[in-house]
Amino acid sequence: MGYIIIMEVTNSEMMQRDLDVIWHPCTQMKDHETLPLIPIKSAKGVLLYDFEENAYIDAVSSWWVNLFGHANPFIGSKIKAQLDRLEHVLLAGFTHKPAVDLAHKLVVLTPKTLQKVFYVDNGSSAVEAALKMSYHYHLNLGKCKPVFLSLTNSYHGETIGALSVGDVSLYKETYEPLLIQNIQVPVPVDQTLQAAQAALETLEEYLKEKSNEIAAFIVEPLIQGAGGMHMYHPAYLKGARKLTQKYDVHLIADEIMTGFGRTGKMFACEHADISPDFMTLSKGLTGGYLPLSVVMTTAEVYQAFYCDYNEHKAFLHSHSYTGNPLACVAALATLEIFESQNILEQNEHKARYIQKEVEKFKALSNVKEVRQQGMVTAIELQGYESKERIGLRLYEYALSEGVLLRPLGHIIYFMPPYTIEKKEIDKMIQVAYEGIQQL
Ligand SMILES: *Cc1c(COP(=O)(O)O)cnc(C)c1O
Repeated sequence: MGYIIIMEVTNSEMMQRDLDVIWHPCTQMKDHETLPLIPIKSAKGVLLYDFEENAYIDAVSSWWVNLFGHANPFIGSKIKAQLDRLEHVLLAGFTHKPAVDLAHKLVVLTPKTLQKVFYVDNGSSAVEAALKMSYHYHLNLGKCKPVFLSLTNSYHGETIGALSVGDVSLYKETYEPLLIQNIQVPVPVDQTLQAAQAALETLEEYLKEKSNEIAAFIVEPLIQGAGGMHMYHPAYLKGARKLTQKYDVHLIADEIMTGFGRTGKMFACEHADISPDFMTLSKGLTGGYLPLSVVMTTAEVYQAFYCDYNEHKAFLHSHSYTGNPLACVAALATLEIFESQNILEQNEHKARYIQKEVEKFKALSNVKEVRQQGMVTAIELQGYESKERIGLRLYEYALSEGVLLRPLGHIIYFMPPYTIEKKEIDKMIQVAYEGIQQL
């Protein structure tokens, strides 16, 4: 009694205290009998620091959310100021300035027909809300369309509805009996125009036959993230927009990963100059600071729900933390950085530099393809079986060299925060290169 013990906590002590009580996402917990868990004590810019002062370059933007680095002083100051003003209030019957300001900004930034903003609080929930809204819209117009159309190899989140429209069997298979009705059409096999055209022909066959049952076609525009950074030509989006309009099916652009500049433009839909009926946004929306998501939709969809209460057409969907003010100011600060610092143009230079530097991977015999779209670069390996777990081996190697890579099976990818600098890009690429060479 009476004296204070100042203890320096080590990584392994922190890891043990964690494993006593925490069940981690997307993890076979038994792996941690041999695989160390990395406890992060602090972060700055693109670097994460553990409890023993080791630094790791966050080459995956902490699961694709971070845009302008960790502990960004500008975003931080905006959240701190909001914290003393209003931390949270319900959004039903009430409103607040950050939600109003952000919605106005999003309406201006997104494709022109998207006029209404429905706040949610995470990506999967935004997808759920968009699916329900689409189904409900048709119902309000007297049509029952209980089926959704999506692409093979797609990913839209992990809740039951979102999982239903996804196609990553690792996450989905087990829950098959619980899922809602979904049809999958083939995604274009590669980034060529021919592949896009072939896939559009198949899409039209499905729509021709089934459109009276289908509420919406949901896609990840240009890049299928969790499906291994699979990329396709914008002509597919353009064609899909035309066909969905022709067959009275909504188009939902799930830009949760592709939004906010990842593909080189603010939103991937801009590459095809299309305006979807719904757009879901999350991840980078708050610069990676706080959970927030939105479903954007058209005045036409909004109007189909607008009537006297007793007509029972309202969209009675809600989440407790909907439109959280702290998250909204983080999003406003993030958008302010885009505006004031010419981010998309700067990223173009960074993307070109990365493109030049990853050329050398093509000469490796175990590399099948190198592909890039804006600030997302993927290196696909060949000649391995999934049980070899080469993704895990590369992950461990890169960590030992101070880089956080999180390969998707045999696909290594870079999706760093936009604040990454040349020497960090060089290190990230060099470590991946050496890791692949050593496999
Ligand atoms: C991450 C992701 C989601 C799910 O978002 P969560 O916030 O993780 O639920 C949905 N769609 C796409 C395209 C994503 O990349």
